[in-house]
Amino acid sequence: MPKTVIVTGGSRGIGAAIVNLLAKEDYQIVLNYNKSEEIAKKMQEEFTKLGKCVEIFQADVSKREEVKKLVEFTIQKFGKIDVLINNAGISQTKLFTDITDDDWNTMLNVNLNSVFYTSQEVAKYMIHEKEGCIINISSIWGMVGASCEVHYSVAKAGVDAMTKSLAKELGPSNIRVNSIAPGIIDTDMNKYLSKEEIEEIKQEIPLGKIGDTLSIAKCAKWLIEDNYTTGQVISINGGWNIN
Ligand code: NAP
Repeated sequence: MPKTVIVTGGSRGIGAAIVNLLAKEDYQIVLNYNKSEEIAKKMQEEFTKLGKCVEIFQADVSKREEVKKLVEFTIQKFGKIDVLINNAGISQTKLFTDITDDDWNTMLNVNLNSVFYTSQEVAKYMIHEKEGCIINISSIWGMVGASCEVHYSVAKAGVDAMTKSLAKELGPSNIRVNSIAPGIIDTDMNKYLSKEEIEEIKQEIPLGKIGDTLSIAKCAKWLIEDNYTTGQVISINGGWNIN
């Protein structure tokens, strides 16, 4: 029986790469999107043509009620949830002194509270099944802190703390919880950076290049298939941060 995977923010960037890789491996997937309906519909069409099982579901994961509907939809379609990949996220670059309450709350709602909502709604089913895997896409900045991204860094550090705590609490129910903390990956999230800025960043990275979404997707696939890794923050960053 194929495993059922929810990928939040599966419509673009890292999430889309994870959906692509897992669909090819015959996982059955619920691709969650928020605003990119056209892209999500197109992706589903393409996968259906290839005989792959990808359902799509619109939900703003920063809202508990919408997350509940996403989880109910998945159970209705597939009867179970084996894997939850918390990938949906936003970023914002602002001086700390310019961050408004609204900026702060939006950042925490989308990047951290969403992980609380999805994990809690899904854990009920996983605990009942005595099996499950939760993968959180956090960030290098949650580990080392980023200037002009304090709210983003705080949210991602919170995600990593949730990963470690949940791994301890849910381990006895055979549920593994891990974070993947990317460095800089080539997606729309970094489109605001100029060519010069990208070149400067590359010079700070020992491997001398920006990361590929496929690296993150391969790590997610490995974390699903392995059965002894839990509570870890795996940073895929070209050596930008080495602990
Ligand atoms: P991206 O290309 O901007 O894509 C973001 C995805 O998140 C989109 O699919 C978007 O869906 C979805 N999303 C945003 N807000 C959402 C919401 N409220 N509800 C549901 N979905 C929502 O970003 P990315 O680079 O792939 O980032 C993916 C994850 O990796 C994020 O958590 C990000 O923080 C993390 N990350 C990225 C990098 C990097 O360098 N790219 C580095 C470290 C960590 P719609 O388009 O449908 O709205």
